[in-house]
Amino acid sequence: MAYVITSPCLGEKSKECMEVCPVDCIDEGKDMLHIDPDVCIDCGACEEVCPVDAIYAEEDVPESEEKYIEINKNFFEL
Ligand code: SF4
Repeated sequence: MAYVITSPCLGEKSKECMEVCPVDCIDEGKDMLHIDPDVCIDCGACEEVCPVDAIYAEEDVPESEEKYIEINKNFFEL
């Protein structure tokens, strides 16, 4: 299980999440930030600081945003 960054981050990339992540598992992509699900320790710190509410625990990702679970994962597999 991991936290997932979803569409409100598109074009936003505010980066408060990167500052608070204790395991440094958030990286910047072209359009948004991504969380590496293999490194995330599920602490929830990033979710609390996101100014656009883009971050969800994987099990809480809204149905309309579910594709971002794969988008976050695929970013780190490239
Ligand atoms: Fe980093 Fe914690 Fe957010 Fe996972 S839940 S990305 S470990 S701050």
